[in-house]
Amino acid sequence: MGELIELRVPKHNRIELFDFAMTLSETCGFAGAMAFGQMAGSMSETCWEWSQETFGTAEQRGPKGALLHLEKEAREAVEAIGTDNLTEELADCQILIWDAARRAGLGPVELLHAVRQKLEKNMARQWPMPTTDLPVEHIREGSK
Ligand SMILES: [Mg+2]
Repeated sequence: MGELIELRVPKHNRIELFDFAMTLSETCGFAGAMAFGQMAGSMSETCWEWSQETFGTAEQRGPKGALLHLEKEAREAVEAIGTDNLTEELADCQILIWDAARRAGLGPVELLHAVRQKLEKNMARQWPMPTTDLPVEHIREGSK
């Protein structure tokens, strides 16, 4: 059990995680940040317990099945735009992202930390203004 907790909050990330929590508390208040963190952590934990009981442990099934299912749910979400089903389809996507991460050995805290790092990277890049709904790639150095 101790090993699993260590995996979710790696020691080398703790200072940066604290920094992240402080940034979040500046925008929605310390109590709000703590409540949100507890709710998200509890929800992801419940999802993970259910997933293991229903679909097998991480040792039995890796992240591929969840990621392939995520492709399907993302398509369903696109089809649900403008309908009352969009929220449920987005929830399916969130559950599968958490599940794939867990099956790849990443807890929700590590995933959130990775999101922050990737967001900082994306924010430092240059992006063209989208003209369609197709994916937009950042402008690569040296390209015109
Ligand atoms: Mg669905």
